[in-house]
Amino acid sequence: MPQYRAPVKDSKFVIDHVVGLDRYANVPGFQAATPDLVEAVLEEGGKFASEVLFPLNQIGDKIGCTRNADATVTTPPGFKDAFDQYVGAGWTTLHGPEEFGGQGMPMIVATAFNEYVLSANQAFEMYHGLTSGAVASILTKGSQEQKDKYVPKMVAGDWTGTMNLTEPHCGTDLGLIKTRAVPQADGSYAITGTKIFISAGEHDLSENIIHLVLAKTPGAPESSKGISLFIVPKLMVNDDGSLGDRNAVTCGSIEHKMGIHGNATCVMNYDGATGFMVGEENKGLAAMFIMMNAARLGVGLQGLAQAEVAYQNAVHYANDRRQGRALTGPKEPNEKADTLFVHPDVRRMLMEAKANTEGLRALCLWGSLLVDLAHNAPTEVERQDADDLVSLLTPVIKGYGTDKGFETTVNCQQVYGGHGYIEEWGMEQYVRDARIAQIYEGTNGIQAMDLVGRKLALNGGRAIQLFFKVVSEDIAAAEGDEKLAVLAAALKRALGELQAATMWLMQNGMTNPNNVGAAAYSYMHLTGIVVVGMMWLRMGQAAQNLLAAGSEDTKYLEAKLVTARFFAERVMPDAGALRRKIEGGSETLMALDPEMFAVA
Ligand SMILES: Cc1cc2nc3c(=O)[nH]c(=O)nc-3n(C[C@H](O)[C@H](O)[C@H](O)COP(=O)(O)OP(=O)(O)OC[C@H]3O[C@@H](n4cnc5c(N)ncnc54)[C@H](O)[C@@H]3O)c2cc1C
Repeated sequence: MPQYRAPVKDSKFVIDHVVGLDRYANVPGFQAATPDLVEAVLEEGGKFASEVLFPLNQIGDKIGCTRNADATVTTPPGFKDAFDQYVGAGWTTLHGPEEFGGQGMPMIVATAFNEYVLSANQAFEMYHGLTSGAVASILTKGSQEQKDKYVPKMVAGDWTGTMNLTEPHCGTDLGLIKTRAVPQADGSYAITGTKIFISAGEHDLSENIIHLVLAKTPGAPESSKGISLFIVPKLMVNDDGSLGDRNAVTCGSIEHKMGIHGNATCVMNYDGATGFMVGEENKGLAAMFIMMNAARLGVGLQGLAQAEVAYQNAVHYANDRRQGRALTGPKEPNEKADTLFVHPDVRRMLMEAKANTEGLRALCLWGSLLVDLAHNAPTEVERQDADDLVSLLTPVIKGYGTDKGFETTVNCQQVYGGHGYIEEWGMEQYVRDARIAQIYEGTNGIQAMDLVGRKLALNGGRAIQLFFKVVSEDIAAAEGDEKLAVLAAALKRALGELQAATMWLMQNGMTNPNNVGAAAYSYMHLTGIVVVGMMWLRMGQAAQNLLAAGSEDTKYLEAKLVTARFFAERVMPDAGALRRKIEGGSETLMALDPEMFAVA
């Protein structure tokens, strides 16, 4: 049976000593987040995740969701009760704005907690997971009436939110959307069309579901410039806030899929459903992007979360399972064999897993701090800088984070040998569940194009220049420190590769746009190595400071220093290979005609 324990200590190490949350006490909402309170929240949240949600993970995977004859959807056994407990304990309100019933805690705290929920049960998390993004869209672009009507119930968890972009013929290219929104005399719109792959599109957990739907009004331009955003409630909401009639939106079927079986992925049919426009006509994509950016960071966290639970189990297994002898001679001569832990190749998989999970945790938590700072930092310069950095790094957190998350689940499955392939051990579920994160919310290829095709050049390259400056300052601060010099030198080399690759793109991208497309994926990974490398340098620095200050937690802190060096010596060198791939250009990628791919 798999097991899971929330890594509260590691989250707290990052929050207190790497990010240093107390440095931001001047940011609204941060004062209340004292170290003691944050610890209490995370301890309690971790307990809830491991004791209530984790035991439902395998059941959810096995039994999945059922669409009933009346088009309702029944979630797996135990989900409804767990959701009631989740809402009852106020977990959905953690980061919600106080004026709409939320606790107003910094996003970094909610992110740490969400990681635990996702590790324990990703399919469960996704029922409420998209709601905070939907709330952000309504708060930013919606009318006051829409905010008052929908947001408090969504923050409370009484209602959940969905995002409806994808249609059978259009996923990445949203300009092709066919769903129509016809204006009605009362100011509402009649929404007609079919959306597919809608996560949590229908379920029995909450009283109501608020769908955020992209559709086109009559005469709108036939491109992404002609898309508007609509609120379409499952049950109509009366002026006094009570629930009214069923709206004309139904679940047509549930997809049978590779993983996250406990989450209902629905085909949603809109048959003249009543919808209300959010923001301006034809500006819907920008409004939806507020939700999508939040969701992209959340999906990056899914990569980390699946990697973490897989890693924890692989460590247990490697300690228990005995096969073969250490290359240097038997470690435990009285036993018939040594544990898997003695084998360097098993160590390789476990160290990569450790370096990836702890590095990505630090990155996701820092990214969520940047989101808060982008909105609430006291000065315009701080807000702008944070916004630039988080915009640049969102595709990296999503794309690199989920690639490394998936790779980690596969490595941890490999630690089990054949047992990793057998259902009862639980490892193959983590591989299957982690896989989707590379695909939805814009595939990782699209994240790479967002980074290279859009974010790099934005505002004359302001964000990437700022990123270079931030990394360079960290390197400079560490270079003189004997114990950190190895990390600083490795990061300096990796940063140099990224800067050279950026220069190459500037020189070769304009003349041949295929060079940009061909370079994008490697560039995203190269940026990922540099930013996670920076987080490892920061973690190394923090560990060393604590040791120097006399901390007695020596094993944990020394493990940080060793893992930082592992990342520097065994992951960062990939930066050079990625740069060379980028500089290889697009010629061989694009040379063959499609018919030349056919089997000879
Ligand atoms: C389980 C699950 C849950 C989902 N949940 C939701 C949801 O809640 N709401 C929602 O709206 N959607 C949802 N989706 C849809 C998901 O976001 C899309 O599947 C995804 O964005 C890709 O779209 P597509 O499947 O149509 O692939 P396509 O757009 O057809 O892409 C196919 C391939 O071509 C590549 N490609 C396409 N265009 C380009 C380009 N311009 N440049 C480079 N490469 C390109 C893609 O990267 C991909 O590899 C979900 C999907 C799944 C499987």
